[in-house]
Amino acid sequence: MDGTIPSASPTAPLIDPFQRAITYLRVSVTDRCDFRCVYCMAEDMTFLPKAEVLSLEELDRLCSAFVRMGTRKLRLTGGEPLVRRGIMNLFRSLGRHVKAGAMDELTVTTNGSQLGKYAGELRDAGVRRINVSLDTLDPAKFTAITRWGKLDQVLAGLQSAKAAGLEVKINAVALKNFNEDEFDRLVEWCGDEGFDLTFIEVMPMGDIGSENRLDQYLPLSLVRAQLARRWTLEETDYRSGGPARYVRVAQTGRRIGFITPLTHNFCELCNRVRLTCTGTLYMCLGQDDAADLRKPLRASPDDAQLDRAIREAISRKPKGHDFVIDRRHAGPAVERHMSVTGG
Ligand code: SAM
Ligand code: SF4
Repeated sequence: MDGTIPSASPTAPLIDPFQRAITYLRVSVTDRCDFRCVYCMAEDMTFLPKAEVLSLEELDRLCSAFVRMGTRKLRLTGGEPLVRRGIMNLFRSLGRHVKAGAMDELTVTTNGSQLGKYAGELRDAGVRRINVSLDTLDPAKFTAITRWGKLDQVLAGLQSAKAAGLEVKINAVALKNFNEDEFDRLVEWCGDEGFDLTFIEVMPMGDIGSENRLDQYLPLSLVRAQLARRWTLEETDYRSGGPARYVRVAQTGRRIGFITPLTHNFCELCNRVRLTCTGTLYMCLGQDDAADLRKPLRASPDDAQLDRAIREAISRKPKGHDFVIDRRHAGPAVERHMSVTGG
């Protein structure tokens, strides 16, 4: 281990070996979900035993340690974060960092099913923007792709989010032979509703049962070319610090993002790491190397061991990832499911 790591000041920023400042933490607060999207989960998933999952208090302590070391943006995800019991307590408690100016943003990625219940509380906790995943506006297709979801419930949840004053970005996974014919409609609907939209390329993560990734994979270069026939897509230099490239739709004034981890290398600007609900820190979405933070967290009420473990993990952040989908690699490139790290 690097001899300088143990003596770093508790508030020293996290800088990786490639001089990238780590300022964005994504936390999967549960591996459970009320949906079973076909590209994300198998129908019969085995979920983690409760004892392995960090308590909400432990998650707060871990996230707060990252904030102390310079994390400016925190995204809670899952599984479905809003189905975890008591989750609003965690939002409220982490919201104190935004209110104190120690953090710029607390946000969430959700399937939208619980927004009717929680939109107002999220806003009160300090959340201003949310990402909601929605791949289709057709009720029957929605139930087919999520296996268990109801479109009406999500659309009602989105109206609650708007009424509560939350800014919404829709995430849609582009799936061959599934929603190809709906992209224009999604752009139009997002324009009408005042939502931004991001298309995501399907990524080879986790065993998803009988589904085949090659059947699902649709390169976003094709999506973009298709959209350009109907819409005027203006280049922007807007960046969120992540893998999305953005254009502005002249006709609607809204942004469209494209997340293309398979066809482009976006690693050079990577500012993020991902924490699972068991306290495992993944330094790269596309690689299996990880650090166990639960052990140092539980070893002592004092944060010294935890801080050392975090700094040691960041010192191992790799330069980039190596996803592949081709005919020889139709199975998962990374064994874990997206619901482990939350995307
Ligand atoms: N349940 C929440 C939701 O659906 O928004 C949060 C967790 S979900 C794992 C986060 C995002 O990952 C969603 O937008 C989902 O569509 C996306 N996702 C899941 N599996 C994926 C895969 N194999 N490739 C690309 N995106 C995936
Ligand atoms: Fe659940 Fe989100 Fe995965 Fe769909 S994408 S199964 S909503 S975690």
